[in-house]
Amino acid sequence: MASNGVMDARDRAAMLNRLATERFDILVVGGGITGAGAALDAASRGLRVALVESRDLASGTSSRSSKLIHGGLRYLEQLDFKLVYEALRERDLLVSKLAPHLVKPVRFLFPLYKKVVERPYVGAGLVLYDAMEGTRRPVPYHRHLSARGALRLAPALNPGRLAGAMLYYDAQVDDARYTLAVARTAAAHSAVVATRATVVGLTRGADGVRVTGARVRDEESGREFGVTADSVVVCAGVWTDLVHQLAGVRAGYRVRMSKGVHIVVPRSAVRASTGMILRTEKSVLFFIPWGEHWIVGTTDTDWSGDRAEPPATEQDIDYLLTAANRVLVRPLTRADVIGVYAGLRPLVTASENNGKGDKPTTKVSREHVIDVPVPGLASIAGGKFTTYRIMARDVVDAAVADFGREVVPASVTDQVPLLGADGLAAVRAGAGRLAEDYRVSRSLVEHLLGRYGTLAADVLDLIRADPELGRPLADGHPYLRAEVAYAVTHENALHVEDVLMRRMRLVFESADSGAGTAAQVSEIMGRLLGWNRRKRAVETRRYLDLVADERAAVAASPMPSADLAVAAVAG
Ligand SMILES: Cc1cc2nc3c(=O)[nH]c(=O)nc-3n(C[C@H](O)[C@H](O)[C@H](O)COP(=O)(O)OP(=O)(O)OC[C@H]3O[C@@H](n4cnc5c(N)ncnc54)[C@H](O)[C@@H]3O)c2cc1C
Repeated sequence: MASNGVMDARDRAAMLNRLATERFDILVVGGGITGAGAALDAASRGLRVALVESRDLASGTSSRSSKLIHGGLRYLEQLDFKLVYEALRERDLLVSKLAPHLVKPVRFLFPLYKKVVERPYVGAGLVLYDAMEGTRRPVPYHRHLSARGALRLAPALNPGRLAGAMLYYDAQVDDARYTLAVARTAAAHSAVVATRATVVGLTRGADGVRVTGARVRDEESGREFGVTADSVVVCAGVWTDLVHQLAGVRAGYRVRMSKGVHIVVPRSAVRASTGMILRTEKSVLFFIPWGEHWIVGTTDTDWSGDRAEPPATEQDIDYLLTAANRVLVRPLTRADVIGVYAGLRPLVTASENNGKGDKPTTKVSREHVIDVPVPGLASIAGGKFTTYRIMARDVVDAAVADFGREVVPASVTDQVPLLGADGLAAVRAGAGRLAEDYRVSRSLVEHLLGRYGTLAADVLDLIRADPELGRPLADGHPYLRAEVAYAVTHENALHVEDVLMRRMRLVFESADSGAGTAAQVSEIMGRLLGWNRRKRAVETRRYLDLVADERAAVAASPMPSADLAVAAVAG
């Protein structure tokens, strides 16, 4: 263990120096969940690992998902049994052992509208779903409910055609924080993790074939340097084809992008004490409980535009509102929507399809694909957040297979709890004492335990040293000023957006996207990072511009037409 997983943004220069001067077994390209997972998998096998991410950890798809760790009920319908089986096993491992502080069980109501055909069909699916789990179940079995029982849990449902419901369990996670926790755990196993560092070219050995490392550009300074590694592992999500082009290789698969949009509405706008899943014509619609909010999504449409910031449009929002309103007594309106975000699914398709395909994106398999197009280069795409650990294991296996030297141990990540997980039960049990010791409220301690697990004490130490940091960052939100400082000193936050978009989620949880806190965040970060007044103002403006651009993209999209093809909810 090198560093206890502390990723201090103030150590960036030293960390870049290590990248440029050390020799690595594996260089991972991409700091989403797949890349972070691959770095942890390789580092915990005892390999020397570097990871480079061109923006921030999880800034791509891995902060924009539905945030479910689930088997995927709808994949049963597509007869994708292997995927569901694997995903359920992973869900249970994460909830019970690897990350119980971050992955939490959540229950879902599945309303039924066709009494005769639907209950046996959905019921059989859930029996199979439950049966695919292991014998030690961290989440309860599914249950059948009458219409009355369903309305008790979700008075928001229109009783009109409701015939009953099923209740089942899955799990949820803050995807960006989870990715960060995986990367920090990799760092604790000596991986060097660099953000705002882009691979701009791959280097080849004396034979002109074997990949031996990469040219990397530091996005903060523009400086370029070489990184030497026995194998480069590409985990670049929807950017994968571009990295293959950089390498001048033709891989056996292409990535097809599918855009998914979510809206965020206040908890009070939908009266229900459980999450909900509704069947739509093409897929499903989730109401996911998220603190004081609901996340409602998602759409699933082919995409070929900007990869970095795919825009949500008025049509996307209108689609979600219309689909949700088919079942609600009190319809949601545009005024209820306080946040919106869009992400791109990296779906895989055969190389000859040129990244396209005749199947709708909802029908493209969510399984992952690995290729080793030339020696020294392995790449992976597809898959799901839930199965990242399996994906990581498989791509590292592929990378080390052509090392041609010592035998590398098999993956051990099923036995490696993430930072913050070890000893959680005792720390949770002692939450009251912790609150007394640090002279803070019990609810503050609970808030920190839910985000940092056993590392919560590190944040509390900052508050003890400077009680001002114990104040909330914004009214009506649980985040503390100390968490901004911690994001810099332990979580490698380099810019205001890293804090407001991913270390915290104010970007979609707050009606102003966190704009009102940007100056305060810049102030706290600036004190630690040595920013002068001008630099603090520039950083604040940078965030405000980002948020304004996102809003402008929605506003600029054409208004939805009346005949918009909205998928019908069951019935
Ligand atoms: C709308 C939506 C909902 C979803 N919901 C769920 C869900 O509920 N549950 C679930 O299990 N899965 C879900 N998924 C799928 C899941 O989110 C993705 O499979 C997963 O996040 C992909 O992670 P990744 O690491 O492969 O890609 P990314 O997170 O996109 O990471 C790739 C990274 O590579 C970096 N990169 C690219 N090029 C370079 C370069 N040249 N140099 C350095 N870095 C580079 C990018 O900046 C990016 O950060 C959902 C996906 C979407 C879009």
